[in-house]
Order: sequence, then C-alpha cells, then structure tokens
Amino acid sequence: MKLKNLVVVVLLLSMPSFALGQDVRREIHFPDLPNGRTLKCDLHMHTVFSDGQVWPTLRVDEAWREGLDAISITDHIEHQPFKRDIPTAHNRPYEMAQGLAREKSILLIRGAEVTRETPPGHFNAIFLQDVNPLDTKDFYEVFEQAHRQNAFVTWNHPGWQGPERGRWGQEQTTLYERKWMHAIEICNENEYYAEAHGWALEKNLVLVGYSDIHSPSYDHLSRTVENHRTLTLILARDKTVESLREALEAGRTAVWYRNQLIGREPELAALFAACVQIRPPHARSSRDVCAEVVNVSELDIELESTGSARPAKIRLPARSTSLVRFEQPGEDAQKVDLEYRATNFVTAPDRRLEVRLAVPF
Ligand SMILES: [Zn+2]
Ligand SMILES: [Zn+2]
Repeated sequence: MKLKNLVVVVLLLSMPSFALGQDVRREIHFPDLPNGRTLKCDLHMHTVFSDGQVWPTLRVDEAWREGLDAISITDHIEHQPFKRDIPTAHNRPYEMAQGLAREKSILLIRGAEVTRETPPGHFNAIFLQDVNPLDTKDFYEVFEQAHRQNAFVTWNHPGWQGPERGRWGQEQTTLYERKWMHAIEICNENEYYAEAHGWALEKNLVLVGYSDIHSPSYDHLSRTVENHRTLTLILARDKTVESLREALEAGRTAVWYRNQLIGREPELAALFAACVQIRPPHARSSRDVCAEVVNVSELDIELESTGSARPAKIRLPARSTSLVRFEQPGEDAQKVDLEYRATNFVTAPDRRLEVRLAVPF
C-alpha cells in the first residue's frame, strides 16, 4: 500500500471518533416515581454465543445509546448454530460484557434461555451465578439447578409457534406448583399474547415483555411511538441489581409495547400520574376552561370519557403539551374530577385504566 493511501485509510478509520467526539444516548422518557426509579429493562436478547448476530459487548453499547438501564444476555443453552466457530461457553457473554457495562452504568444480569421444543417451550433464567449446571438433559433438573441458584424464571413467548402449541401445559403446572416459574413474557418483540396475559393475572405471575433481539439494534435511530424496542419498566427503589430484583419479584412492572403500557393497576395508575400533569387553567368562561396538559412520556396517550366529561376524547402526543378545552360539568363546580379511560394503559386483556383528571374550574 502506498504511503498516501495508508494515510487516507488511517484518517478514515479514526474519523468516527473525531466526528462524534462523544457518545450520545437517546433517552426513553418514562418518569421516575416519587419513591424510586423507573428502570428501562430488556432482559431477553442473544449474541453469537447462540443464534444472535452480535458480540456480547455490542449489546451493552446498544443498551446505553438506546436509553436502557438494565439488560440480560440470555443465549440459548441448547441451541448454538455457531458452535463450530464459537465453542460452547455459557458464561462468557456475561463475563465479556461485564467491564463495559460497569463503565456505561448499565446493570448487567447473568442469564440464559432454556430452549426446549414446544411444548413446553423456552424459559429464561436470570440472576444465575453459573449457567453451566443448567446445561443438562432432564427438563426438571434444569429448573432444580436454577432454583438452587435462586434464579428468577420466565416462560418466554408462550404463543410462539402457533396457537395450538402455545398452551399452558403439564410442565407449566409442575414448574408453577414448585414455585420454579415466576413470570410470563406477555409480549415478545412484535407479539402480544392475550391468553398468557390472562394466565399471568390469574396465577399472580409477574408481567414482562422484551425484545428477544437477535440482530443488531438501531432503536435509537428508528424508534417511533408505535415502533420501538419492546421492554419492561421495572419500578425499583434505586438503580441497583438488588433493587431491580426486589421490584421484579414484587411484580412492580409495566411492559412498554407498541404505544401501550401493560401492567397491573397500581403500577399503571402511578405511572399515569407521573406522566400527565394538568396546569392551572389560563382562560375560562362560564361554561369551560382552557388548560395545558403535559405528557412527559413516550406514549401518545389516548383518553376516552366514561361519563359526562367533555371532550369525549383527548389525545396527548408523546413528550408534548396539549391545549384542552374542558367543559364545566355542573353550574357551580369548583374543582371537578373528570372521569376518563386511558385506552393505551392496559390492565387486563379486556380492561383499560380508569383515571380521574382533576381540573380546577
Ligand atoms: Zn426463545
Ligand atoms: Zn430468545
């Protein structure tokens, strides 16, 4: 190579760092609650150590620039198509990513995906100390090993591979009765499983949803209100693995999926209250008031009146302030709670969060 060409190559190679100078993170805007942190978590993803397309450290880079707080790399234990190129080493993805995660303040949780034919299907075990003991043939032995390590186990994508196979089976019953299964992935990437959502509520299992990403992620570039990385908001006391675990085990979660938050009522009500603020009305007549309504979240929040409140429908675009003209419901009402239903706050497959907007008339 001629010296001049070499100089050009060296310059080109060094350009991205010159041009950027610093890394930029695209935050995910869901506010903290008064008593803790709203952690943005994706605890299901793959690398070349199973059938993913990226190296473990890249998952940390992606997590940081896409606004996440916590991740778990959950490579398949039994499915390793690149085995001839990358030998079986179940703990290496975590070990390799650990240093960078610390540097970037990403909580990294050691995990793995138990990968069996459906039924019973796939399960993630996280908070493991050592993945290797789970690499064993007997199905129940795997979960006994996970249980010995005090792991948190999720039944993954229950509706995957057709509705006839996405059934709650005998294995699920056994795992559930032995308290070896703690959560259900009610959303996985671009799928929502209404039936599994019902089982989770009925059996008091934790609601989670993740990307299960295999390819490189470009969510920081491509994210829209409707199309974004599926993840779980975990309402933790602070940003530590211990707090995250405590909140996850207590079921303080909300799944962010396609412009919806799916969770239990207390968590969704608290999030709604933190996301939406009504400013004191700046203009009023005898019949109505004009007020700014601020939505600080990533959701385009949709409200429907459930009674006499007007307007009948309100749409609050993400990270925006909307001007709303509220009709005064009664003659001498001073401060009125207007009753609405937040249609993208999902508390059950067929139920949405009921909210009261306190408008000072
Ligand atoms: Zn899977
Ligand atoms: Zn997976």
